[in-house]
Amino acid sequence: MLLHFIFVIKEEELDERKEEFEYVKQMAKFFQTWIKEKFSKDFEIKCDEMITHPRSILQKLDTHVLLRDHRERGQETYHFYLTHFRPIWTDCAGCEGFHSENFGMALWQKPKIKNDTLFLAEKNCTVVSHEICHEMLRVKKYKRYIEDVHDVWTQHLFNNLPFEQFDNSFLKTDDKPKFLAIDTSSFT
Ligand SMILES: [Zn+2]
Repeated sequence: MLLHFIFVIKEEELDERKEEFEYVKQMAKFFQTWIKEKFSKDFEIKCDEMITHPRSILQKLDTHVLLRDHRERGQETYHFYLTHFRPIWTDCAGCEGFHSENFGMALWQKPKIKNDTLFLAEKNCTVVSHEICHEMLRVKKYKRYIEDVHDVWTQHLFNNLPFEQFDNSFLKTDDKPKFLAIDTSSFT
């Protein structure tokens, strides 16, 4: 199985967002380990950029375009799009992401300061873990693969449940995390 992350980036931002793409590549490796550990699934991973050009309002880039891209690339691959626009519909309250069979997307927020790893971990990595968690639980035929993820997410956002923190080597840490992920202890 292949998990393919696609960093959707505006042409004019290619240079200034190089560091973020480096983080995306490391994050992809992190999720490979995380998925194996939490859901006992083996994935190969791949990372790419998808460069977008200014479009007219009639050809607006949205979730439909990404779903079509996913079909064209091949639906047997789990494609995960990190985008500069919000999903047009979602059942994920409190998180700008969308999931469907072998398909994920999340709004990727740009840090104000380059190399702000904590920002990337808090704003982006967590949302990616949320969407991947839905998909892994769905594949495992876990019945409440939507509701239970949202219950935990609410705990994270409103009840001070800490995200799980991981370091550079993808090991749990209490100090300066590089990656943050949803707490999966209630699912596994
Ligand atoms: Zn959700």
